[in-house]
Amino acid sequence: MSTEQTPTPRPNIGAIPPYVAGKPPTVRPGMVSYKLSSNENPYPPLPGVVEAVQQAVGSMNRYPDMGSASLYQALSDRLGVPVDDLSLATGSVGLIYQLVQAFCEPGDEVVYAWRSFEAYPIAVTAAAATSVKVPVLPDGRHDLDAMAAAVTDRTRIVLVCTPNNPTGPAVTRAELDAFLAKVPPRVLVVVDEAYLEFVRMADPVDGLATYRRHRNVVLTRTFSKAYGLAGFRVGYAVAPEPIAGALRAVSLPFGVSTVAQVAAIASLEREAELLERVEALVAERTRVVDGLRAAGWDVPEAQGNFVWFDLGERTLDFAAAADELGIVVRPFAGEGVRVSIGEDEANDRLLKLAQEFPR
Ligand SMILES: *Cc1c(COP(=O)(O)O)cnc(C)c1O
Repeated sequence: MSTEQTPTPRPNIGAIPPYVAGKPPTVRPGMVSYKLSSNENPYPPLPGVVEAVQQAVGSMNRYPDMGSASLYQALSDRLGVPVDDLSLATGSVGLIYQLVQAFCEPGDEVVYAWRSFEAYPIAVTAAAATSVKVPVLPDGRHDLDAMAAAVTDRTRIVLVCTPNNPTGPAVTRAELDAFLAKVPPRVLVVVDEAYLEFVRMADPVDGLATYRRHRNVVLTRTFSKAYGLAGFRVGYAVAPEPIAGALRAVSLPFGVSTVAQVAAIASLEREAELLERVEALVAERTRVVDGLRAAGWDVPEAQGNFVWFDLGERTLDFAAAADELGIVVRPFAGEGVRVSIGEDEANDRLLKLAQEFPR
């Protein structure tokens, strides 16, 4: 038996870094705890969305509409782009996997900022492609000049995460335009707009205008954050047809479930109400950031639904102190802590922690 060969995965599989999901809160008797570790939307689903989903649940014995025709049409109408330029996926994490699968041979290079979204190195390694990580600037911004300079003959994809998870700043339209002018048109530039709806800044990126002007730009978007459907796994890409078509070709058949399609359509129909909630979260973000700065914290510009604390070796101490106060944050050991903007009470607790924790 022992001499028999067993199946072995490709060598890159063992090198895939684990995805560290945000922890659920520690249960403490008599205390409500809040999860601020996964950038989720703290609001429950809108009533109409729940009802639409409840109706759809009755058809769970059937496969979903494989072409997701209604959701493609709803997005096409909403965004003013042809259906052929869209590709749905099981969250925008699914899109990142599909992008490297469709565009990278083993050893091809994918350039992205670091620290950035932790799914990037996982997807790149899973495809046996090579990560080229370009450190973010001290204020948490992408170093787009260094990223452009990191492009080689082997580079197939550059990922631009804006706003950047976990550090918070977003790139400006002028910065992105200057960057796109430097990157060769054979290189795919992915603009990860997971937090698009939360951006409030001068000269914001206009993703759709950018996609219309370039044949090598892909926008990735999600229903997980502003739309509050993280548990249902729906994201989409907007890209010129040859790129969107390649993504559709490698997509998982029947990946987006019927309930997810229905929830996404119902959410688009109730977008005005959802965007009011986003506005309330943005107001809370402002309150939190102002409070942190008043308390002496030098936090980077927060353009998503989260704030970043550059804590280095004190990261785990901060996370433990947060846990004591009944809020769960997302520590990146040795680097810093990301804290989602949540319920008002949860945000109050973060401000209390920030006042008590030594700067
Ligand atoms: C949360 C997040 C996503 C979206 O993930 P889904 O798979 O759509 O839930 C994509 N990119 C970034 C940077 C994120 O933070």
